[in-house]
Amino acid sequence: MNTFRIAIVGSGPAGFFSALALQNRENDLLHFQIDMYERLPTPFGLVRSGVAPDHPKIKSVSKTFDDIATHPRFSFLGNIEIGRDIALADLKKNYDAVVLATGASQGKSLKIPGERLVNYWSAAEFVSWYNGHPDFATLDVDFSGERAVVIGAGNVALDVARLLTIEADDLRTTDISNLALKKFRESKLSEICVFARRGPENVSFTTSELRELEKLEGINLAVYQEKETLDERTLESSVDKQTKLKLDFFRSLAGRPRKPGARTLKFFFGYAPRRIEGSARVESVVFTSDKEELAITAQLVVSAIGYEVSRSFGLDKTSQGLVNDKGHISDNLFVVGWARRGSTGVIGTNKSDAAEVVDNLVSHLTSSMPKKNFETIMVEQQSTLIDFQGWKRIDQEELARGIEEGRNRSKVLSTQEMLEIALSKS
Ligand code: NAP
Repeated sequence: MNTFRIAIVGSGPAGFFSALALQNRENDLLHFQIDMYERLPTPFGLVRSGVAPDHPKIKSVSKTFDDIATHPRFSFLGNIEIGRDIALADLKKNYDAVVLATGASQGKSLKIPGERLVNYWSAAEFVSWYNGHPDFATLDVDFSGERAVVIGAGNVALDVARLLTIEADDLRTTDISNLALKKFRESKLSEICVFARRGPENVSFTTSELRELEKLEGINLAVYQEKETLDERTLESSVDKQTKLKLDFFRSLAGRPRKPGARTLKFFFGYAPRRIEGSARVESVVFTSDKEELAITAQLVVSAIGYEVSRSFGLDKTSQGLVNDKGHISDNLFVVGWARRGSTGVIGTNKSDAAEVVDNLVSHLTSSMPKKNFETIMVEQQSTLIDFQGWKRIDQEELARGIEEGRNRSKVLSTQEMLEIALSKS
């Protein structure tokens, strides 16, 4: 019997699906002791702090993660940051293999003037804010202006635009951060403009996400381009089924009458951002198309143009993630998920991604050298280490507060309070 000790760094979907892939490889002769390290006291990464609060079904994957965590050879070690509390080199020394599942948590820069103006946010900040991530929960987001600009044509841009457009009351029962809900309630926004730098046939929004917009009754949907221009696009593009559905959707918005008093979500195609203007705060955004320069007044700007790796541990990286060969970085070090392939794919994509990396990892395992029980050393040394039971205390507290407030969950927004709850022995 061989029991290999594996450290997974990061507890988002990529981390949990790696644990599952390892558990699935176990047999009578092969076992894995999995220690999952997480910087926050709470697990689940983007499932907790990325998925939109009005998409609870997507979050239900956390039940699968709960099952993975109940395995007898799985430990969650929360509130431990690799690179701060433990050196990556020490992990490598004490485990047969280390898997980095640290994601891509930094919003890509537009690399245009004005990104430092007040009330300009990257989606990495904005989405983490409304989802109550403790590092972002108290951002001073301002909805007192009339118009917001969202830059980007992917599903994150659509999440942001949808939340800005719907009535705050529609978010009342969700697990959105309390601080964010209050701001959404006070919002004075009347128009949310989404800018794609290429044509409607090139957007990365998925059809299911676009169709969801049609079901929202209290909002207006609009498109800047004339119907004729969109008709031409349909004729010009040799379109696959999904692209055709998207084009049909955008064409159906042209000339659509607006409901008075309702907020409007408006799409612009073929406009690349050039600069954000304002003296201290965001005041307008200038775009160019092949026909014109367009300056649009806006008091809030969110760019949702993808994410990049922020934690590289001094390893080589490209815009797509850490340099790797089928997930193998070097020696006994591996990488999965967005840290491996860049910010692409849905949560489920991480399942096949992790399985592929774990196959590669298992083929590299040769050592049967007994490793020290590093987890035990950590438990002895770190008085603020949060195990899965500790997380469950936070979970129970959030659910209980949710019941009191008539919501699915009311998130604890500060790390300090999370630690107090997790470490209480009641
Ligand atoms: P994405 O799908 O890669 O979209 C990024 C968008 O930003 C693209 O439209 C891209 O345009 C645009 N862009 C990039 N650089 C730009 C620039 N300098 N100026 C203007 N526009 C620029 O990324 P994402 O929206 O962050 O989503 C990441 C992944 O998460 C995706 O796979 C997405 O499907 C997934 N996700 C899924 C859901 C869901 O299923 N409900 C929700 C959220 C996210 P070009 O095409 O022209 O480069």
